Amino acid sequence: MDADLLERHANPDAASRGASVAPSNIPEDETPLYAARRKIYPQSVKGTFRRIKWAVLLVTLAIYYFLPFIRWNRGPNAPDQAVLIDFSGRRFYFFFIEIWPQEVYFFTGLLIIAAMTLFLMNAVAGRVWCGYLCPQTVWTDLFLAIERLVEGDRRAQMAADAGPWTAQRVLRKGLKHLLWLMVAWWTGGAWVLYFADAPTLVKDLATGHAPFLAYAWIGILTATTYALAGHMREQVCTYMCPWPRIQAALTDEYALNVTYRYDRGEPRSSVKKSEQLRLAGLPAGDCVDCRQCVNVCPTGIDIRNGAQLECIQCGLCIDACDSVMDKIGRPPRLIGYDSDVNLKRRIAGEPPVQKIIRTRTVMYALIIAAVGGIMLYALLTRHAFDVSVIHDRNPVFVRLADGAIRNGYTMRILNKQLETRRFALTVDGVPGNVVEIVGLPLGAARIVEVGPDQSREFRVLVNSYEYAPAASSPIVFHLTDVESGTWAQARDHFRAPERPK
Ligand code: SF4
Ligand code: SF4
Repeated sequence: MDADLLERHANPDAASRGASVAPSNIPEDETPLYAARRKIYPQSVKGTFRRIKWAVLLVTLAIYYFLPFIRWNRGPNAPDQAVLIDFSGRRFYFFFIEIWPQEVYFFTGLLIIAAMTLFLMNAVAGRVWCGYLCPQTVWTDLFLAIERLVEGDRRAQMAADAGPWTAQRVLRKGLKHLLWLMVAWWTGGAWVLYFADAPTLVKDLATGHAPFLAYAWIGILTATTYALAGHMREQVCTYMCPWPRIQAALTDEYALNVTYRYDRGEPRSSVKKSEQLRLAGLPAGDCVDCRQCVNVCPTGIDIRNGAQLECIQCGLCIDACDSVMDKIGRPPRLIGYDSDVNLKRRIAGEPPVQKIIRTRTVMYALIIAAVGGIMLYALLTRHAFDVSVIHDRNPVFVRLADGAIRNGYTMRILNKQLETRRFALTVDGVPGNVVEIVGLPLGAARIVEVGPDQSREFRVLVNSYEYAPAASSPIVFHLTDVESGTWAQARDHFRAPERPK
């Protein structure tokens, strides 16, 4: 039996296709690409993993709903909201960090770190993200808690749904949907607060003076939260989310996953029958086939069928089975976090191994550290001002009446400080150059002023009265802060006609 079960339980191909890997008494499941939803009534459960889930739910929702109200003093003329996506000012504020549109590479870095963290979590302990942190899981959990609060636990809900539509049932369903809609509305409302000053927007929303876009987004997010967390639930994880498919391709035999230890649990039988089998000296597993692990599962699957795409690895079946084992006096963790390699080792009579440090985990950790380090360095060493230059496209140069070759540029200066600053411009690389800034009198010192927390654009003309060394030679625009002496550079090219041979 062992080899046969092992083959079917540990068949990664079947798991990645989403097929249940079933013991011999369960027919092979042919999971369709889509199946209409059958209502699942997950039973409440108590235990370690449920407590972890409550804690994660409270912390993540508290952050999401209340973060926009935290203030952060950035001085005069700057918003005092700790986290703010300011589209009109084209800035992103995160506590002491202020990101400009030109620094969008920080978001690229954050995305790489997020992806690698997801891969690392997966390599160490499976779908931790899905089971505990994914917004779909968190809000579904919250909606399930409201459902239980209003309609009772699994049995009460099943009994009510199987019965006629009484006044009490109508009232309960109505109250549940009302509470769901209130949470969904609050969820949408919290989202828009990240894009404007939160206390002001709350007042504007309440008095009907907020922009139409704010109301539209609240409406869209209320509808999607209500539909996804209230009605679609596990369908989102099974049919809409790409991560389970990607995750199956990224896992290996050392990753910990919620696993039914069938080598200990099988052959399953009732408590009474297993006692009789043991007394008769016959094999009897620890699983008493009470189906508590199935009843508590939010995706409605039977973990005893092996690795399944529908399993979000929330650990609730571990809690359910542990309480059964406690009642019948057997050791806990008949269902537990286990790896494929340890399943095989136990069957072969070898001690289990935990191998968290592996090539893939080290690689993910190194990428996270490298990208994080580069971002931190860039953040700490970035200038309080910046300059960028774009060469005119057409014409790339003109010859003036006095014989000079002229190139035109658009120069943009970013002043990230909260006071007006003056900058002196010099140009290197072009022999005998004369620089003009359009708008400043000819011959004036080439000093420009940029207001606090602003970017300003200038037209710069560079005239060369000597032949440039080549048709295209490097040119450096050097900008120095007049007060502090700090400087920044931008590089481009000076174009000229071919030199006569
Ligand atoms: S809860 Fe434990 S004992 Fe009960 S059916 Fe599930 S695995 Fe078997
Ligand atoms: S099988 Fe267990 S771990 Fe997987 S989703 Fe169901 S309750 Fe959660």
